[in-house]
Amino acid sequence: MAPHASKRDLEEYVDGLLSDEDSSSLRTHLDGCAECQRRLAEFTPGVPEHDPERRTETRALVHFPGRLKLLDPVTSTGPPHQVEVIEISSGGLKIRTERSLIPKTLVQIRYEGKAVLGEVRYCIRVGAEYHAGIELKEEFPE
Ligand SMILES: [Zn+2]
Repeated sequence: MAPHASKRDLEEYVDGLLSDEDSSSLRTHLDGCAECQRRLAEFTPGVPEHDPERRTETRALVHFPGRLKLLDPVTSTGPPHQVEVIEISSGGLKIRTERSLIPKTLVQIRYEGKAVLGEVRYCIRVGAEYHAGIELKEEFPE
């Protein structure tokens, strides 16, 4: 197995600063490395266990079916697809999806009768599906 990703690599991956090549090789490593997935989750929104500052943030574990639409015309292919919102916090959502999402992609997610606009922060593979962190940008008027 390739060496573990450095903290800096993971941070740059989350911030979308890695080159396409580095980012795709890191993603390949993450697919097979629970350790690095756990480390990645530590400094991405929605998994604040190691950050006491964030413990006060309200988070809720949920199971809402939703629909995700990619707003980036380059990566946007096909109709919206089904996702499941599994966590909601003040600044973001965590979703389960069958499709890998590219960090920095703008997405619209509809669930529970609302539509929210967000940006993909990270996407990690968990078994046969993906978990993605979405940072909310603004709420559309309902
Ligand atoms: Zn690793």
